[in-house]
Amino acid sequence: MALVRLGEDFKMKIRLYNTLTRKKEEFKPLKPDFVRQYDCGPTVYWYAHIGNMWRYLVSDFLRRTLEYNDYKVKQVMNITDVGHLTEDDLAADTGEDKMAVAAKKEKKTPKQIADFYTKAFFKDTQRLNILRPHLIPKATEHIGPMIEIVKALEKKGYAYWAGDKYFVYDISKFKSYGKLSGKKLAELQSGARLESVPGKKNPFDFALWIKDSKHLMRWDSPWGVGYPGWHLECSAMSMEYLGPTLDIHTGGEDNIFPHHENEIAQSEAATGKKFVHYWLHVRHNLVDGAKMSKSKGNFFILQDLIDKGYDPLAFRYLCLTVHYRKNLNFTWESLEGAQKALNKLRQQTAAWQAGKKGVPELEKRFLKAINNDLDLPKALAITWDLLKSNYQQSAKKATLLKFDKILGLGLGEYQIAEAPQKVNLLVKKREKLRKQAKWQEADGIRKQVVKLGWQIEDTAKEPKLKPV
Ligand SMILES: [Zn+2]
Repeated sequence: MALVRLGEDFKMKIRLYNTLTRKKEEFKPLKPDFVRQYDCGPTVYWYAHIGNMWRYLVSDFLRRTLEYNDYKVKQVMNITDVGHLTEDDLAADTGEDKMAVAAKKEKKTPKQIADFYTKAFFKDTQRLNILRPHLIPKATEHIGPMIEIVKALEKKGYAYWAGDKYFVYDISKFKSYGKLSGKKLAELQSGARLESVPGKKNPFDFALWIKDSKHLMRWDSPWGVGYPGWHLECSAMSMEYLGPTLDIHTGGEDNIFPHHENEIAQSEAATGKKFVHYWLHVRHNLVDGAKMSKSKGNFFILQDLIDKGYDPLAFRYLCLTVHYRKNLNFTWESLEGAQKALNKLRQQTAAWQAGKKGVPELEKRFLKAINNDLDLPKALAITWDLLKSNYQQSAKKATLLKFDKILGLGLGEYQIAEAPQKVNLLVKKREKLRKQAKWQEADGIRKQVVKLGWQIEDTAKEPKLKPV
């Protein structure tokens, strides 16, 4: 009987929940061993809150999982620095550009606003150990490809003027409109309560180009001076760098409708090809059981957590404890728990030296968990099983470092610090004093040692040193 050893070369299928088909499917990229991943990026008019960060952490877990399985990933994430209207979640096209509103409010140019919040965003993703996407295109630098898509749509009869300001997409022309969200065209037509732009045939027909010669950011186009519709941006930037068909497109669950539905409609109408094979959506983050919002006062950014003394990676750890299709209920207690667990994980592993051989049995279980629709809570539980197991420390550490390629907790970056000679001498001096029952003087030395950053723990055998 031929035997196959489960080790480095062990391959396992990846299964992902596809919003489009509403089931877990085996992941098969267009090109073997190569994955085109696109993530809807931030609208850079304000700080990203921790719910947004959770969504980008999931993109990071996905990319790391693909790379862990030896896929070469090309990850593209856009920056929306124009065209995201304040009312856009209702597809109304009646709101103002978030970037322009922020620029007026902060008395800066839209570019200054975009640069500032883009920088803030990447500072946070870096602090969370989120890998930087390979390409980060900005909407304002891709107006040309957007215009090309609108031209194609116009030529094929998918676009029309609603009044003299909005050049819109006619959703009734796209036969499979609603396939991602499950919404039916008839329902959208009749059930819509939103205030519609006059001249729209369907209230959910959406803007491709907004004619506005007074808008702060404006470009020339065949439809007059103005700016592009938000949905158009992701279609243009993803196809520009990844081709007409992507393997995976990610976003928050609030992006499913209308944003991603519209991305599909305009992309597939323009190219005649399938736009995306796998759609992955992250559930909303909650704070104390309520949806996070600025008005409710439960809106936190990463810096708020850091200001309270938490390690940003404690938030990353917390996100590892919840599956991406379940609600992450953020509370200060849960963050405290995550910080303690992270500290313990670091403490325990810092003292070990990694060997060459790991623990294949647990590595296999770990791989199975992450490949099962990114089951990170399970992967984390397996990490603790490994820690508590009786395998050799060197093997445990080797495997742990491997796991950390997914976990991203920087577990290889810590080691037990050696106390300086000065501290060791003080400890010896204190021992002598204690033997002579000179308690007060001994305690004085203990305080001196604390000031040097070390804590003395008296054990039956000898005193031990720990960093404060
Ligand atoms: Zn998008």
